[in-house]
Amino acid sequence: MKVFVNEIKKYDLPEIIKIFRQNFAEIDLWTELETKKIILLKPNLLGPYHPEEAVTTHPVIIEAVIILLQEKNKEVWLGDSPGGSVAVKTTFNKTGMTALTEKYNIKLINFSEGGIKQHKIGKTEFIFTAYLEKVDAVINIAKYKTHSLMYYTGAVKNLYGLVPGLKKSDYHKENADYKSFGKIISGLHSLVNSKIALNIVDGISGMEGEGPSAGKKRDFGVIFTSQSASALDFIAARMMGFKNSQMHYILDAMKHENIEPDDIILEPKWRSFQFKKVKYRKISLFIKLISISPGFLKKLFKKLYVYEPDFNEKCTLCRVCLESCPVQAIFLDGKMKIDYNKCIKCMCCHELCPYHAIYIRKSWLAKRLIK
Ligand code: SF4
Ligand code: SF4
Repeated sequence: MKVFVNEIKKYDLPEIIKIFRQNFAEIDLWTELETKKIILLKPNLLGPYHPEEAVTTHPVIIEAVIILLQEKNKEVWLGDSPGGSVAVKTTFNKTGMTALTEKYNIKLINFSEGGIKQHKIGKTEFIFTAYLEKVDAVINIAKYKTHSLMYYTGAVKNLYGLVPGLKKSDYHKENADYKSFGKIISGLHSLVNSKIALNIVDGISGMEGEGPSAGKKRDFGVIFTSQSASALDFIAARMMGFKNSQMHYILDAMKHENIEPDDIILEPKWRSFQFKKVKYRKISLFIKLISISPGFLKKLFKKLYVYEPDFNEKCTLCRVCLESCPVQAIFLDGKMKIDYNKCIKCMCCHELCPYHAIYIRKSWLAKRLIK
């Protein structure tokens, strides 16, 4: 399985088209798509952020794919379901998607509308957009970022946006730690993967630190392309410095795709390449330590190890967090407050606040345990 890593410093449309043209030809994408008419583009549209904030997929990357698909007379649809209760129309406008769909006369879809499909794996019921059945293939176009709960987010995690609206918060509620939430992500990937014709991860500008939305923009200067979401993520996460033990859901997804690390074909210069000191937040350490401690230590540790969302002065009382919290732990009492007895630390509020008004408050011990 080939993973392309292309160096590019700017969102330069002709250059990006040139890169994709070469990559698509090399993997024979057009033969694969020959009989497919409707192609759905699935970017990362986490919330109402400007492209320059590096939270969402940059519109120029999407534009390049649209141009190449329209050259082949494909009908292009573009859709996502931003997290929680974020206003979808605002997200589409702010991320540049509305302008793009008007310019190229393509269909813009909100996955929270249009029905759902349900599938069970074991006891877990998966719900995702019924639009998946209405299109012939999907091109998954993610963003290159660290993730406070999952370490890394790229192609596989981007498919979580196929889950409509607030159902995403339900999965967080039922699967609070990164291993069980990772099972949800890799399970969903196994259900939808046959529809994914191609994966692209936009790392020209990505994010480090408190990703996926409150971190710092970092210009990695690369674009990844592969027919395998999991192989792509394995390489991309490794280039951020993550180890196999921090990639559970990616390795699970590779198993579903029958891909071993040694099967991945990569240009020699990238084989041992790592970006220097990519910063990230290890909130999963809390869950890990709790899960291996005996009862009394668990209680003590929980008391001393405080790691929870809180509000800063940027809050505009927009209520996005309140309406998105899966356990109704947020309430308005003059200002926004959190009932920490209810909070499951899913970080949905931290992820979704459009104003970066929610930060992660840490106790003395948490500060020392988290880099
Ligand atoms: S913290 Fe304030 S600004 Fe942020 S989502 Fe909640 S209400 Fe809106
Ligand atoms: S308040 Fe707690 S439970 Fe609610 S969204 Fe925020 S982190 Fe999740």
